[in-house]
Amino acid sequence: MNLSETQLSILKLIDLYGEISRKQLALHSGLSQPAVTNITRELIDQKYILEGKETDSAGRAGRKEVLLYANADRFRFLGIDIGGYWIRFAISDNKLNIFHQSITPMHEFINVPDKLAALTDHINVFLQEHGIAAHTIDAIGVGVTGIINMEETHILNIPNLADWDNLPVVSVLQNAFHCPVFLEEGGRTMALAERLIGKGKHVDNFIVVNIGKGIVAGLMLSKQLVYGASNVGGLLGHVTVDETGRQCLCGNYGCLEMFGTYQMIEEKFAALDNSGISLEDAYQQNNKAAMTACIEAGNAIGIALSNVVNLINPQHIYLGGRLFETLPLVFEELKRTIQLRANRFANVVLSIEKNSFGDMEGLYGALTLAKSKLIHLYP
Ligand SMILES: [Zn+2]
Repeated sequence: MNLSETQLSILKLIDLYGEISRKQLALHSGLSQPAVTNITRELIDQKYILEGKETDSAGRAGRKEVLLYANADRFRFLGIDIGGYWIRFAISDNKLNIFHQSITPMHEFINVPDKLAALTDHINVFLQEHGIAAHTIDAIGVGVTGIINMEETHILNIPNLADWDNLPVVSVLQNAFHCPVFLEEGGRTMALAERLIGKGKHVDNFIVVNIGKGIVAGLMLSKQLVYGASNVGGLLGHVTVDETGRQCLCGNYGCLEMFGTYQMIEEKFAALDNSGISLEDAYQQNNKAAMTACIEAGNAIGIALSNVVNLINPQHIYLGGRLFETLPLVFEELKRTIQLRANRFANVVLSIEKNSFGDMEGLYGALTLAKSKLIHLYP
């Protein structure tokens, strides 16, 4: 695909407005009407955009204006969400409607010396299973719950997984699939999805938090994603909540991930109750040890988040993770802790709620990354 910058800027405006006339495109792009007519003709010929209904207002020479909109079927995006337990794959159209998806446990990659060759194989199998020709993919978005380099080309480290270090994922996938590949930290892709297609569409300051095997966060501050000076901004899982706590895989002691994940709640519960009952069953029975373990986890998450709330003063916190569904007390407890600990002027404007896409937040994040980078929807 070889779209020019001006073609991309027109595609971006059409995407932002949903449907728009050529006259309005000229107005918003600063291009002349004849230039817009030429560019839109090229884009219509290549089926990127379609002509729709006429507007009520008359355009030049008294003619009615035709509204243009994006052809949902023109683009195919591949999203890859690399988490602690799973890698998810999905194919979507231009509207980010998902057609096909699959999920592979991360343990299939243990003892595999060449992780990226294995990843490429998994993608090929996924595409073949669903009859998708690789050359029809317009862009690939990869979200990873780890640390990536400043240039956004390499996975530098996944704290919860061994041997996922210094992997040139962008160049390997570009060579294999011959299309643009974009890489971003998972929490940031989730924030991007919330901002562009989720609940955060009109929210300038928010935090997305997802709890799986690890804890990731994406911070949207004054409409901008937070990256930091070395691309590790938003590392919520490794914020210290108890300096006397045990050592984390990252090397630090008492990180939030040592308290706030499902696995940690299970461990805490098992230490308090040796009857052999599962955490979820015990929770259903209002078992005291299960309640204590959930309260401790919710409290730890709440402490970490109330510090973040005081630092960046968000309007919303969007939370996701299976533990909020199966152990809702964790959600209630973290909310209570934030209300108790964060500054009251910050709490007045704050709402704490579930994320937009549940379990699929990272997958929508990866797809949103592919689309938004390809047509420059987001800087
Ligand atoms: Zn840590």
